[in-house]
Amino acid sequence: MAEFSEMIPVARPTLEVGGALEADMKDVLASGQITNGRHVAEFEERVAEYLGVPSVVAVSSCTTGLLLLLRCLVDEGEVILPSWTFMASGHAVVWNGLDPVFADCAPDTFAVDAKSVSERMSERTGAVLAVHVFGSPCDVDALSRDVALPVVVDAAHGFGGVYPDGTMIGTKGVAEVFSLSPTKPLTAGEGGLIATRDRDLAARLRVAREYGNPGTYDSEFFGLNGRMTELSAVLGKANLVSLPFWLTRRRALAARYQENLKALPGISFQRVPEGGESTYKDMTLLVDRDALGLSRDGLAAALKEDGVDTRRYFAPPMHQQRAYRQACSTMAALPHTEALAERVLTVPLHSHMPEEVVDRVCEAIHRLHRHGPEVTAALGRV
Ligand SMILES: *Cc1c(COP(=O)(O)O)cnc(C)c1O
Repeated sequence: MAEFSEMIPVARPTLEVGGALEADMKDVLASGQITNGRHVAEFEERVAEYLGVPSVVAVSSCTTGLLLLLRCLVDEGEVILPSWTFMASGHAVVWNGLDPVFADCAPDTFAVDAKSVSERMSERTGAVLAVHVFGSPCDVDALSRDVALPVVVDAAHGFGGVYPDGTMIGTKGVAEVFSLSPTKPLTAGEGGLIATRDRDLAARLRVAREYGNPGTYDSEFFGLNGRMTELSAVLGKANLVSLPFWLTRRRALAARYQENLKALPGISFQRVPEGGESTYKDMTLLVDRDALGLSRDGLAAALKEDGVDTRRYFAPPMHQQRAYRQACSTMAALPHTEALAERVLTVPLHSHMPEEVVDRVCEAIHRLHRHGPEVTAALGRV
């Protein structure tokens, strides 16, 4: 019997309704200027100010942003990236006709491992792509020092996250690309933002999101329609205003999960680098089957019976997904990535989730631990 009347979802967007949002929506609709208008430009300016970067280019999605960024930076060869990320990071490489080369991740921070990256460097390497996994800042400065190549960042999870040196995610590498899709900390319905300190690159990206058309209809290169709509920009602007409030809440909910579960054998957490701040885009637990007395998949199935939805972010990791097994002929083993894929379980977290929901999920996990063998036996009979 389900303990909750409704399934608790893993993620939900937190949206601001009313006020400036409604007025701006009406303005867009009344003006007829539904793309390439003032709201996208304003959103870009406000984000640049919030992050502390000179240039922000709004695009239709993070995938599009990564695609266009790589198009502007790398002509041919390989891009080294972690396998421990969402598939879009790799797809952006492949859609550019570049070869993805997968590096392993660190078992504690889940971030791409610098040593594994350097082992994969070759004369064919054109760029390194790093990822702020679940919104925890990865060490982009160290990677940029190590490699004499562009380091680009998939910051899809990271809007509002902070590096250990106190600067915002979005300020490092050649450029960082955020996602504004509904499960991310800041949403605009759909959309992406490319943040960069390189004004020339930003100018080129603005041409890239217009099919590579600099305005003369004499295309310079193969761009895309990568524009953000005005309605998305209006949503993004409204949500940006309240983001600091919701991020504080989100971090408090993540801390509450950790507090409630830290004494439980068999459950551990991603390590956020000291001094840095994660956005907790996802609350992902590591499950140790022997210590918990229940396998990761057993825990997921039992939680589902209790009305708690979960995900296995990111299993299978990219290098084990069908598309990549075909695309990449030689693939080194990635032991830390493969070990994580066996153990991760993402539990519900959204910014406006009541604290009581965290407590109920944690109580369910404690109870399932106490009854591990019976739960496993019961699941076996289903
Ligand atoms: C969501 C996500 C993306 C894709 O973002 P879209 O805006 O949906 O294109 C890329 N990378 C990571 C790590 C993501 O989680």
